[in-house]
Amino acid sequence: MAKASAAKKTRKSAKSGLDQLRERLQVQRQEILDMYEHDLRVGQETSDEGAEDLVDRANSAYNREFMLSLSGSEREILKEIESALERIDSGDYGVCNSCEEKIPAKRLQAVPWARYCIDCQELVEQGLLQDN
Ligand SMILES: [Zn+2]
Repeated sequence: MAKASAAKKTRKSAKSGLDQLRERLQVQRQEILDMYEHDLRVGQETSDEGAEDLVDRANSAYNREFMLSLSGSEREILKEIESALERIDSGDYGVCNSCEEKIPAKRLQAVPWARYCIDCQELVEQGLLQDN
């Protein structure tokens, strides 16, 4: 709770940076969602109707390939983005989920949805830390 009130106090100066990150997260989320929706629509259209013009066909082939190459990690990222946005709203954003240290701004710039500091992230990737 002390953390939340401290965040409120510094809100004015910290806001622009957080707002920027929130915007980036929202843009990235929208891009992924758009891709999914497009792919879903394309998938339905292709199975329902045999006739589609060549441009659509080319687009859908391209998009499907793109989606297939990305879908697993994109889905993961989408989940990460959603939970990062929730953390921004709840004021928990930018704090390592494991050791509760502040995640360096540089890392958040590179990976806005990061839940762990670099040290803990390494442990998670090595399976030494429970990823929650
Ligand atoms: Zn940590």
